Amino acid sequence: MKDFLKNEVFGIVSKAAEEEGVRAFVIGGFVRDAFLGRPSKDIDIVVEGSGIALAKLVGKIVGSKVAVYSNFGTAMLHYKGVEVEFVGARKESYDRNSRKPVVEDGTLEEDQQRRDFTVNALALSLQREDYGSLVDPFGGIRDLHNGLLRTPLDPDTTYSDDPLRMIRAIRFATQLSFTIVPESFEAIKRNKERLDILSLERINEELNKILLSPKPSVGFLLLEESGLLEKILPQLCNLRGVETMDGKGHKDNFAHTLQVVDNIASTTDNLWLRWAALLHDIGKPLTKHYDPEIGWSFHNHDFVGGKMIPGIFRQLKMPLNEKMKYVQKLVQLHLRPIALVQDEVTDSAVRRLLFDAGDDINDLMLLCEADITSKNENKVRRIKSNFQLVRKKLVEVEEKDRVRNFKNPITGELIMQRYALPPCSTIGIIKEYVKEAILDGIIENNYEQAFQLMEKKALELGLTPQPLQKSL
Ligand code: ATP
Ligand code: MG
Repeated sequence: MKDFLKNEVFGIVSKAAEEEGVRAFVIGGFVRDAFLGRPSKDIDIVVEGSGIALAKLVGKIVGSKVAVYSNFGTAMLHYKGVEVEFVGARKESYDRNSRKPVVEDGTLEEDQQRRDFTVNALALSLQREDYGSLVDPFGGIRDLHNGLLRTPLDPDTTYSDDPLRMIRAIRFATQLSFTIVPESFEAIKRNKERLDILSLERINEELNKILLSPKPSVGFLLLEESGLLEKILPQLCNLRGVETMDGKGHKDNFAHTLQVVDNIASTTDNLWLRWAALLHDIGKPLTKHYDPEIGWSFHNHDFVGGKMIPGIFRQLKMPLNEKMKYVQKLVQLHLRPIALVQDEVTDSAVRRLLFDAGDDINDLMLLCEADITSKNENKVRRIKSNFQLVRKKLVEVEEKDRVRNFKNPITGELIMQRYALPPCSTIGIIKEYVKEAILDGIIENNYEQAFQLMEKKALELGLTPQPLQKSL
């Protein structure tokens, strides 16, 4: 285990602790990940005494600045790119209405008891006499070997004290492919109402970590089964289930969505593209319709879904910025490439898709490819080869027409000058006419052809051309 302590910072902390006359241990995620052979960026040191004082001494020895958080009794410094956090060992007791515990100084073991899972409570000694020896009072190593998440104390106490631990359990199960032990999972179900005391930012942070895991479906299935999803994102729960009419059923859109998320996770680590996959069919429950002639349909679910995105982002306190717009755009456009290959792949349809998707065209294609979850292999093969064709056409059309970041060759100033117009709606009408002609392939995307078409339209509108003062 001494191998885990190769980073020279451990030796430095060890000496500093001896000088201060306190006992220090490496604890938590670093130790867990070392046993699992996972890389970890940050180190947590727990001290029987003042974490801040020890951090200051270490900072002085290595010449690093120390950030002190007196409210939390913690301090942090960076050593050669690694973040090292110091905290005094503590004993905690909780008030039912908040995540903020009453904190007292404690021993290492008391500190380990307040940790969330046995595998996160492992500690390695930094004392000279037993340097690197493991302190594992709750069977954390056994659980680590068996891939189990178990709370050190009674799970009802651990989860009720700090309900964030319920979502952390599911997040670690997803990241590490671990199993939450049954009595713990039952406790999560029982304590789900406790989520109410959490801040949405913290919930969101965990959701993002679940989404960024190799197989996010694991986490969303657990969130659903435990009842937490119903509280966090009920819109996603509404996708569950299959309804049957006249013997005709539709697919389970929750299961489908999770498969799409896993598919996208295997091709990209773009968090927002993963969010788009999670929400791509969110409009389906609202648009579901049964017609005896044609069966089930979800007409317009792309647009309805797109409209729901800002509300969902607001509800989860996620950023309402360009990330939200990106997700919204992908949700809104997610049927376009597939609609395109179901008809003939015409240049003008490709041009319109490029125009609408802009720089996100590639991400949109990835989403659409991930959206193919049919079990009919022939169908899958056919759609995939059609998508290849679309990708080829996208490149050809963009090379020729450059509509991806479209800029109209005809400007408002040009129209005003040429026809001696004040700012008015006619300008928009002419610009729109030219743009549509370019997108439809009636004219090419260049100034000469655009100018000619503008003149033709102006004539139709009864406008009289004036000599141009300068070329615009
Ligand atoms: P990662 O850094 O990959 O998220 P981690 O286990 O290091 O995993 P941190 O949030 O960095 O998680 O927390 C460090 C340690 O602090 C954990 O290993 C755990 O021992 C403890 N811990 C963190 N959050 C809680 C909590 N809500 N309740 C109890 N213990 C916690
Ligand atoms: Mg950590």
